[in-house]
Amino acid sequence: MSTRMVREYQICLNCIMDTTDSLIQFDHKGYCDHCNNYYNNILPNWHPNERGARQLQRVVDQIKRDGEGKSYDCIIGISGGVDSSYLLYYAKEILGLRPLAFAVDTGWNLNVAVENIEKIVKGLEIDLYTEVVNWKEMRDLQLAYFKSQVPYQDTPQDHVIFAALYNYASRSGIKYVLTGGNYSTECVREPIEWVYLNDLRQLKDIHKRFGTVALKSLPLCGMFKYRLYYRYFKGMKVVKPLDLIPYKKEDVIETLEERFGWQRYANKHFESIFTRFYEGYWLIKKFGYDKRRAHFSSLILTGQMTREEALNKLKEPPYDEELALEDLGYVAKKIGLTVDEFIQLMNGENKTYKDYKSNAWISQLAIKTAILLRMEKRQFR
Ligand SMILES: [Zn+2]
Repeated sequence: MSTRMVREYQICLNCIMDTTDSLIQFDHKGYCDHCNNYYNNILPNWHPNERGARQLQRVVDQIKRDGEGKSYDCIIGISGGVDSSYLLYYAKEILGLRPLAFAVDTGWNLNVAVENIEKIVKGLEIDLYTEVVNWKEMRDLQLAYFKSQVPYQDTPQDHVIFAALYNYASRSGIKYVLTGGNYSTECVREPIEWVYLNDLRQLKDIHKRFGTVALKSLPLCGMFKYRLYYRYFKGMKVVKPLDLIPYKKEDVIETLEERFGWQRYANKHFESIFTRFYEGYWLIKKFGYDKRRAHFSSLILTGQMTREEALNKLKEPPYDEELALEDLGYVAKKIGLTVDEFIQLMNGENKTYKDYKSNAWISQLAIKTAILLRMEKRQFR
């Protein structure tokens, strides 16, 4: 039996992160380390103003020069969500780049996401490449993750989407990958125990223990390949333009709605039934982790929501209970379980990323070394 320390409940007095992040630390004012990280490390290095604009212009000039004579000068992974949709628009129309839009069909996309992608690429006259992954393998990996009882059930899809994009960019010689990652809506990172991402060693271990179908064609990409081989040997560059421009969620959504008839989702990541069910039910009911906490906290820190608004919104269930149960049936059937089997998993013993093989020690060691060398200013845990 595992023993877990029970910690007294505490919530940050500035944002709404709380002790459901078991590693959270509070200072004497009752502010959490996410807030302090934002004020001390992110904010002083974040310039969505003229300074950012100049920096972005230099990168854009370089991308254009390197892309001369090629069909595309950069690639942008698109999910149909706000960040990637806006990035595609901004890259083509404002920056004058020639991106290829890259989508991955993992078998779960909601119509609204697919329609959003179509509206944007048609409206901008951008080529779209959609990689359809092998569903039998995808399903087997997802089933293995559910059986492993870890919180982060979006890892299989996230990994495959990430790997498909970078593997494709490398194969087709596209040097610049533009991503929609941004401080404005994501400055409060989700704690490692809620989302443990992109560790191929762990993915393989979980699949080895609980999977039944060999993963032959599923796109995979380890950190070494991504951080060392692609970057240093293939010269791939990852650019995050949204941190260099003013980026406010509501303004951006308005632009997308007006310009393309883009449709908003009920919640930040509710682009598929899977994500809706996983974030709104599995993660909350089984683990008590509410991803809205991190998302709303980001919006509080960046002045896009008040703490009171966030607390009120958090009181509402993330989605309708009846719809949740309908989704449970849908997800169970799609991954090959009966509703009873799925409920057994819901009630089973919760596991963490530490219960399976992982490369967490490597990144922790790298971070510690960097801190010792004072190369890394950001605060990690
Ligand atoms: Zn805080």
